[in-house]
Amino acid sequence: MESTVCPLKPNCALFSEVDLLDALKFNIETYYCKRNFAKCARYKLHQQGLEVPLKLLPNDKICIQCEIKN
Ligand code: SF4
Repeated sequence: MESTVCPLKPNCALFSEVDLLDALKFNIETYYCKRNFAKCARYKLHQQGLEVPLKLLPNDKICIQCEIKN
């Protein structure tokens, strides 16, 4: 059976470089990263070879309140 976990997860800058609220992080991982990565806006841009904005959320919205980690 094919894995349903996003192949980009180990290197996804959303988790390594952006300070996400725990609840938001949990929801993203549960819905997108572990089940529906093909629907993720970040994944789609990456697949097209396009630049992925750091604060882009899987729902195609920029996370205005998210801080970049130091
Ligand atoms: S946020 Fe999107 S691109 Fe990043 S690991 Fe999750 S599904 Fe993959």
